[in-house]
Amino acid sequence: MNPAEHTETFQFLVEQARTRPVNVDKEQVNLPRNDDTVITARIRPILEHEAEKGQTSGVHSRTNNIVELHNLALGLPGGPKLRSSAFFLDRIYGPTESTETLYEDLTAPLVTHALKGGIATLFAYGQTGSGKTHTISALQHLLAHQLCGQRDKDGGYRNVHIAIFELGTTLNAAYDLLADRKPIALLEDSFGETRLVGCSEPRVLKASEFLAHVDNAARLRSTAETVKNAQSSRAHAVTRITITDPVTPAAPDGLLYLVDLAGSEALRDTSTTHSKERMHEARDINTSLSVLQACIRGRALLTPEEGKPGRAPYIPFRQSALTKVLKHVFDPLATRTPKTRVVACLAPAQPDVGSSHNTLRYASLLRVPVPPKREVVYDPLAPRTWNNKHMRDWLSASAVPVDVECVAPWHTGAQVLAMAEGEFDERCCKAEGVARERAVALRMKLWKMHVDSLRGAAAKAEEVVNSSKAQENQGIEWRRRVRAGMVVRKAGKLLMVMSPVDAFGKMHGSGKTNVGGNCYVCATFRSAEYALRDAYVLNVWQQMDVDLVEMEEEVVLEYDEATRLYFIGV
Ligand code: ADP
Ligand code: MG
Repeated sequence: MNPAEHTETFQFLVEQARTRPVNVDKEQVNLPRNDDTVITARIRPILEHEAEKGQTSGVHSRTNNIVELHNLALGLPGGPKLRSSAFFLDRIYGPTESTETLYEDLTAPLVTHALKGGIATLFAYGQTGSGKTHTISALQHLLAHQLCGQRDKDGGYRNVHIAIFELGTTLNAAYDLLADRKPIALLEDSFGETRLVGCSEPRVLKASEFLAHVDNAARLRSTAETVKNAQSSRAHAVTRITITDPVTPAAPDGLLYLVDLAGSEALRDTSTTHSKERMHEARDINTSLSVLQACIRGRALLTPEEGKPGRAPYIPFRQSALTKVLKHVFDPLATRTPKTRVVACLAPAQPDVGSSHNTLRYASLLRVPVPPKREVVYDPLAPRTWNNKHMRDWLSASAVPVDVECVAPWHTGAQVLAMAEGEFDERCCKAEGVARERAVALRMKLWKMHVDSLRGAAAKAEEVVNSSKAQENQGIEWRRRVRAGMVVRKAGKLLMVMSPVDAFGKMHGSGKTNVGGNCYVCATFRSAEYALRDAYVLNVWQQMDVDLVEMEEEVVLEYDEATRLYFIGV
């Protein structure tokens, strides 16, 4: 039976129901608000073509936090009956609310967070046609004006870079939407960081440049829509904005992600799909969206008590390309708290109420109680844990008469360690009577303490970590374990294995062919002697092809997040 035939009954019953109290999950209502993860929904208006078919709205916001859904159950004795449900989220945006309101509430605070070097992410989730792209695109336009040409408090400009790419759910494939859909490679290094190799990331100075990139990417997506059978609704589109501070290069880069997710209807609507390929695709979208849910929940549920065995939830970010790329948004070991916003997009017409219900169920599962923030615990022997006062005290107490105000006016220990090549020495030498050798000696002393503290921490972690992995690898000749991310030595040089050669053809011009899968593309390291002996910087772009037999030994490197340097492990 066609529900449109019952439009009048439906409208009448909905109007009646809207005056009655609603039932929402008390647990959801009582959850304390948390500014790190905010889950919202947006109801789009009924579109012209829907109104023409006589469809009316079955989804309404009751208050700013409650959304109610109504559907008509037909074929019951006594006539059609209304089935209603309601959800409580952090905020519901009704069909008449503008994207500007949404921007002020959700995106503007993310921009502030990213400008301070934080990681901020906004996801648009929902079935195809529910308004995800509409919302993200309007936010991009508002963002362009807030971000570009804005002076910070010191009167300096920030450097803004933009990347827009599409992540397929089927193939783990990624395409550059700023470079004509050129494929990009997702490579994981040995520290679990996913690198987008070959993705363009132009710098933008003006809002008009920012918008030209956004429009180019949108055009590329919508062309694909007609040519490739709505392919774009089956892929995630990610806009990544990187904000760097040219005045303080030591400050961490700010990152802002806007993610237009693949259509969630595949979660249940597989009955309308016929081909095997389409079924597999639906399953992959399903997996990718539930992995995302598990990651957002897992991150929010993290307990602040580090190291308490069995307490930290499992965060499965390796299980989908999307979550691999967004790993640092969910990383349990991150010291910077990420901020996450979710907009669940709802199509309100009565035939879509079932989908909207699923969307809201997905969204409300993302609201979880969040523990307080992890604080860095001060350790007098670990400079990376020092605040500015600790840093100053250490400098004052040292035998070298440096000007503390000049060396570390506001820097924390981690920021001093992250100073650019030679900067620390130069700052020290500004004080009268401080010769370069004494500055170098002071730096070496600080760095030695830093490295010793890292080794101490690594050794402690080692005791705790289940050694099953080590046992697993024992007795296997290391060359048989060569994989992406492993570090090897060749003729005295350190190299990080990136991928087998045949994945890229012979692009390195070595003329090597990959007989038996034994030749690898490797990235090189350069020594960071300025910091300390045995410290290295990874040169991702300087690569060479290396045969397995040319690799002399496996080398274990440790990565230090504060300085972004690699050290030879013990
Ligand atoms: P999705 O990306 O989720 O598939 P779209 O963003 O393409 O959905 O939206 C589907 C249609 O609905 C588009 O024609 C769009 O213009 C319209 N639409 C979505 N949200 C709104 C809104 N808030 N106001 C007006 N029209 C909207
Ligand atoms: Mg879309």
